[in-house]
Amino acid sequence: MSISYFIPDWDDRVDPGYDFLTDKHTPGRNPYRDDSYAHEIYPRPPYDGVLLSRAVLDNNSKKLNDLIKLGSVHTYLRLPKTHKVLGDCGAFSYWEKDVPPYTTHDMVDFYHSLGFDYGVSVDHLIFAHDDAERRRRQELTLSNAEDFLAEHSKECQFIPIGVAQGWSPESYRDSVKKLLQIGYGYIALGGLVRSTTEQIIQILQEVKPELRSDTELHLFGVNRPEHIETFATLGVTSFDSASRLRRAWMDGRRNYFLGNTAFSAIRVPEAQRLAKKNDGIDIGEALRLEKIALSALRAYEENSDASYLEQALTAVLAYDELAGEVTDRTRNDYRETLVRRPWAYCECAICKKINIEVIIFRGNNRNRRRGFHNTWQLYEQLHGHVQELPSPLDASLSDAGQMTLL
Ligand SMILES: [Zn+2]
Repeated sequence: MSISYFIPDWDDRVDPGYDFLTDKHTPGRNPYRDDSYAHEIYPRPPYDGVLLSRAVLDNNSKKLNDLIKLGSVHTYLRLPKTHKVLGDCGAFSYWEKDVPPYTTHDMVDFYHSLGFDYGVSVDHLIFAHDDAERRRRQELTLSNAEDFLAEHSKECQFIPIGVAQGWSPESYRDSVKKLLQIGYGYIALGGLVRSTTEQIIQILQEVKPELRSDTELHLFGVNRPEHIETFATLGVTSFDSASRLRRAWMDGRRNYFLGNTAFSAIRVPEAQRLAKKNDGIDIGEALRLEKIALSALRAYEENSDASYLEQALTAVLAYDELAGEVTDRTRNDYRETLVRRPWAYCECAICKKINIEVIIFRGNNRNRRRGFHNTWQLYEQLHGHVQELPSPLDASLSDAGQMTLL
């Protein structure tokens, strides 16, 4: 499948020298200078490019100043030139305003002076129920796109992308039609982050007949990348998604992906934090159980037979129970993760290096690495390499411990 995958930049970095056994950072580390992006950890970046939003930069003046000082988004992100940087305004941050806070002239200058590869026109999201307001926002987005192409002069190195906003399949189609008339060869569909897969498919089906054979089509903010193959058959040539990355620590259950199969990470929070969050937890007891849980997991990594598995599970649950009752669902999820040992089958550099640590839900260095692993898995999938696990031994899986399929 020839589809380009962009990862939104939210400063996702890890300490490359983090010591998992002692839970200590590299001494004297400076997080921006010394921490690594996923594209620095893996021999090949696990995406085709990075999406950098103006609004994200405006919320972090240090970051914006550093970037302006360096004068190049590639240098700032330490991203090889073979990989692209796509810029947009970050319309989600200002959808409640009457008009976008950026002018077309500003944005063209911003993309051009900082060396973006692609720049998106100034758009306005349509989360309105009033018909006149919907049309006003759609027209504003289209007239901005028209001005954007006019401002995009010959010396601009970046490729301009026109945004289509809408509220129904027909309104998206009208926007796309207009952008093609204006002269865009690359169009992005915005405002679909909260839409269902079915709604996105309906919009794409409506839009597809308007596209030319060489029109590029970007889909903003894909929450369910497992459907990207379907979207691609409907004309989508690129997308951005942080979904798999963030699920590593934001999803209640689906934290570690192997292909489209998701597993729960095993929660072993830092004892100090656990005690701080829960009144009445004895810190001495927490530290003792934390240590036993981590040792039992590592012993299971070394010896995969059933007795080590049971010891690891018992130790983890005993620690978890300090903070409250553990549900049967969690027990089953943990058992499934431990029985299937997905990390042992993953070919990625992170799993190969840190083994079982990747599946432990604990602090940025494990959780974000697990997110990088998920991103790597997704990128492999997009290139037709889907990793399969050996089928589970029936005897070792409880009834409720079925594979979590999406
Ligand atoms: Zn991995």
